Amino acid sequence: MNISKRSCFRCAEEDESFLEDLYGYTVCNACTIKLGLYHDETIQKHASSYQRAKDLDPAKPSYQEEVDRRLVMMEKDYIAKRIKLLHIRYRLRNS
Ligand SMILES: [Zn+2]
Repeated sequence: MNISKRSCFRCAEEDESFLEDLYGYTVCNACTIKLGLYHDETIQKHASSYQRAKDLDPAKPSYQEEVDRRLVMMEKDYIAKRIKLLHIRYRLRNS
């Protein structure tokens, strides 16, 4: 039987009392603090700032659109880097 234990993605903390699920990732309390997550007030400030720019130029993205765009770009960058490393590992094992 294979029992997989949860652990913090960053520091490998395994004590369940310190772990929480953040958007599908397991993170411990200490590492959550280090992530520097924005408070709602800061997020609203950014959203307002983007909205002011969009009011002047409708072609500009809303904050939500910008965040969505960044998430897509980050995912593409992650995949490209992962493919590069997987290729290196494959070539090291097969040459
Ligand atoms: Zn941690």
